[in-house]
Amino acid sequence: SSLFAGLTRQPPDALLAVIGMHRADPRPHKIDVGVGMYRDESGATPVMRAVKAAEERLLKHQDSKGYLGAEGDQRYTDLLARLALGTKLAESDRLTGVQTPGGTGALRLAAELTARSGRAPTVWIGTPTWPNHVPIFLAAGLAVETHAYFDADRSGVDMDGCLAALSRARAGDIVVLHGCCHNPTGARLTAEQWTALADLIAARGLVPLIDLAYQGLGQGLDADAAGMRLLLNAVPEAMVAYSCDKNFALYRERVGALWIQAATPSAVMPVRDALLMLARWIWSMPPDHGAAIVRTILEDDNLTQSWLTELSDMRARIAAIRASLGEAHPVLAHIAQQEGLFALLPIDKTAVASLRDRHAIYMPDSGRINVAGLNSVSVKHFAEAVMPYL
Ligand code: PMP
Repeated sequence: SSLFAGLTRQPPDALLAVIGMHRADPRPHKIDVGVGMYRDESGATPVMRAVKAAEERLLKHQDSKGYLGAEGDQRYTDLLARLALGTKLAESDRLTGVQTPGGTGALRLAAELTARSGRAPTVWIGTPTWPNHVPIFLAAGLAVETHAYFDADRSGVDMDGCLAALSRARAGDIVVLHGCCHNPTGARLTAEQWTALADLIAARGLVPLIDLAYQGLGQGLDADAAGMRLLLNAVPEAMVAYSCDKNFALYRERVGALWIQAATPSAVMPVRDALLMLARWIWSMPPDHGAAIVRTILEDDNLTQSWLTELSDMRARIAAIRASLGEAHPVLAHIAQQEGLFALLPIDKTAVASLRDRHAIYMPDSGRINVAGLNSVSVKHFAEAVMPYL
């Protein structure tokens, strides 16, 4: 019989289906709040100015496409570590990092590293979460346990549920946390909540894996990393999966990094060897172009300034749309308090279908919206359309 006879059709990706329906809709006022990319006031996802400038420099001055190595562009990873972790943690002799194909590659590499540890830890993931989280860890053969993270009735973080679940975790278990701009809820942890989590994680000997995919799109570059840094300072071992795909708008270039904080300096090299070996087996080497762009920007003060300015404009636009939604209806007030691209509307899938049919508003059945899919005009139309369903 055929090698492939056992394969069955899979349901199409829910978001891609939404994109397809939106594209086919002829109504001129149609709104797409489905896809998870930043959009400007005109609905475009442009190449950032600093990225264009860096690409011009690379085109002119890059004189080889020769192989680097499984670690990718190490200078990129080291410069990025300072931005993400801050100088002190970045320069620690307990830290090592490698370039990865996007945040997804970083998460998968972290999962593979965990799977090779010789232990059999459970991976704890709060829900709802990015739909790819659970499958990534399952695909590496790890056991996953989901627990409450968000209280839909209060539209806020369910800290009690979260702490109660994690107090059942065993020493060595992995705790996956969104560093900022939680996907899909936008719900932010307060400094007190980060401290409570850090205390519990440290006391029980758990290992945090922070997924930082939106640094700079919430409150600011340092503010968005503060919780993660606090956590890293509180524990011996930790992992950080990073994506530059949103904050540098490099999505399809697949730019990420994975950092491991080891318990002692002497534990670092065996971890690094394992990372490089696993990377070689999976993708051999990460794609270079996007990381070369980020390195070129971070090496140059002018390009860095240009990037920071544009990033802060993006952040301000997201905050303004959030504020408009928050003012539109008391049930949406939480959106103004939350951060990042995403918010979860308290509506069911019948309401989602009805918004699509009657108002040409497109979102996945979960009711997750990308607030950057709105602009200063459409946000009013959107709020009026959604109101009856709240
Ligand atoms: N983590 C989260 C929470 C995300 O939302 C995403 C992207 N949607 C990723 C990781 C992966 O990012 P990348 O595109 O860089 O693989």
